[in-house]
Amino acid sequence: MNGAEVRRLSRLVFLGTGTSQGVPIIGCSCAVCSSADRRDQRLRTSVALEGEGTRVVVDTGPDFRAQMLREGVTSLEGVVYTHEHKDHLAGMDDVRPFNYLQKRAMTLHASARVEEALRRDFHYAFDENKHGGVPDVHIARVRDFERFELGGMDWEPLPIVHGSLDIHGYRVDDLAYITDANAIPKRSLERLQGLEVLVLNALRPEPHYSHFSLPEALEVAAALGAKHTYLTHISHLMGRHEDVQKELPEGVSLAFDGLVLERTAEGWEEKASPWTQCTLR
Ligand SMILES: [Zn+2]
Ligand SMILES: [Zn+2]
Ligand SMILES: [Zn+2]
Repeated sequence: MNGAEVRRLSRLVFLGTGTSQGVPIIGCSCAVCSSADRRDQRLRTSVALEGEGTRVVVDTGPDFRAQMLREGVTSLEGVVYTHEHKDHLAGMDDVRPFNYLQKRAMTLHASARVEEALRRDFHYAFDENKHGGVPDVHIARVRDFERFELGGMDWEPLPIVHGSLDIHGYRVDDLAYITDANAIPKRSLERLQGLEVLVLNALRPEPHYSHFSLPEALEVAAALGAKHTYLTHISHLMGRHEDVQKELPEGVSLAFDGLVLERTAEGWEEKASPWTQCTLR
């Protein structure tokens, strides 16, 4: 390898960028929820990270199936979980088509607490005498700072604070993905230096006990100094994408569903998935 670091992560797809209820919210007629701009329509937060012909999804929220269909995903190496909240877990049952297509179990990388939640919520997938047609899964343990390989990529789990919960963010190469944080411990901050891309949660302008507000997220983004920061896990209270984006400092963007980041010889570039190209004005 000639001492040079091998970069295997080559693409990131924002599968969903919305908070737990998604945007629009059922029954809400605010300016964001009734916006015709597709960037204001946010499925529950998740990303796909792609290597050389491989793909890993972070979290399987309630919109996992819709996200796989929207982006035309036909293969998946595994799932990496941040935490056990329903908006990050509820879609796990839909790994079944990948079981059939790939003829193998799906590897789920989960902390002890996330495994407990998976075993509780999807108990039928873990029964000794399994019924046919249930998800075929294999759990691999996630522990703080214990790097693992998945999809040819090098994943480093970083402890993150989410209200009363200790959850995980991940660093992969020169990119980090942090969602549902309201604080980042010092030892994790040390591992978030020198990033090209930081994906960070920002819920809304006002403070919240378990999520960074927009001002807090901007403070973290400035302190970490990644080349570009993309904000995710966004509430309808954030405002319309177009209005908020105009006010953001250089090097910070609101993510939106279908936004794609691709590594090129010049660095990371923004693209849009075919779905988004069709729907953006
Ligand atoms: Zn969440
Ligand atoms: Zn609304
Ligand atoms: Zn959460």
